[in-house]
Amino acid sequence: MDIIKYAQNPELKHDWTIDQVKQIFSLPFNDLLFYAQLIHRRFFNPNEVQTSTLLSIKTGACPEDCAYCPQSGHYNTGLSKEQLMAIEEVVANAQRAKETGATRFCMGAAWRSPREKDLPVVLEMIRSVKALGLETCVTLGMLDGDQAEQLKDAGLDYYNHNLDTSQDYYDKIITTRTYQDRLNTLQHVRDAGINVCSGGIVGMGEQQNDRYGLLMELANMPEHPQSVPINMLVAVEGTPLQDVEQLDPIEFVRTIATARIIMPLSYVRLSAGREDMNEETQALCFMAGANSIFYGEKLLTTANPDQDADRNLLKKLGINPERRDISESEHHHESERVSAAIQLRKADQASEVNTPMAEVKFTNAAS
Ligand code: SF4
Repeated sequence: MDIIKYAQNPELKHDWTIDQVKQIFSLPFNDLLFYAQLIHRRFFNPNEVQTSTLLSIKTGACPEDCAYCPQSGHYNTGLSKEQLMAIEEVVANAQRAKETGATRFCMGAAWRSPREKDLPVVLEMIRSVKALGLETCVTLGMLDGDQAEQLKDAGLDYYNHNLDTSQDYYDKIITTRTYQDRLNTLQHVRDAGINVCSGGIVGMGEQQNDRYGLLMELANMPEHPQSVPINMLVAVEGTPLQDVEQLDPIEFVRTIATARIIMPLSYVRLSAGREDMNEETQALCFMAGANSIFYGEKLLTTANPDQDADRNLLKKLGINPERRDISESEHHHESERVSAAIQLRKADQASEVNTPMAEVKFTNAAS
């Protein structure tokens, strides 16, 4: 494909091939970051990140066997199990998250799928958190259509359900649910009109082809996920992946940049694994088009950089937390999002917010 043409005029493609993803992923590093920046600046303020806070509302004893997860009941990781949290406690956590600057509050439960008796409690949590003026996101495992509708009626903004890895590598990581199960849940979420948050984990011992495959699956969904978390494996002792070799950070940055290029309107979230990344790697991820982070000390059960460290880093980089009106979080179908993005681009060009775009001359003839 002609990456220069595409970067000049990116489109929402849903028929990416492995070879095209590979071609982008394998560009010389400086070219890759340049194209990722060009596309990022068309649709987003390059100096803003969206911030979410994540709370585990039900921890451990999960019947699924995800090989990376300390919450799986199949592995002994020494994690203390907790029942579903009380609504008041969740609301108090959400209030604190709001005070420290988060705009979205994500609630995660270690379930195969929500049980009938638990779902009404979660619906109440969503209503209460939303009433604080925060966007809401939950991750509860597999959903059927009716459960997705109930979540939508409660006012849920985002549902997180990751593909984790490529179709080919998937059975090395999870055997208790299929790739198709995941795609079905995401379809129910989309059908209900809830924004999709879906991404994956790299550094799980997969090959480069699997990273291309994961990115291709995400970009070839009927709509690009509104939010794409890219996680670096946190190898937890007691899980089958405890001794897996650490992924080269440059490979991680390439994954972020490729996600930015092939899903130009999605928020790309720099997710788990940030605690182990130095500031330089994180800065490269922002340069590659990551524009969303988790803010707070914990990601479900693994550590996250503390908020002071985050604030210092963002300050050093001149990056501000994104502020937006909660009413903007309503689900938009792709055509509406594209026209909104084009309007935004016109406004940005008019006000010269992203002036480097206008100045760019394409002299680079990357293959
Ligand atoms: S990733 Fe989710 S579904 Fe898989 S074991 Fe962990 S909590 Fe359960």
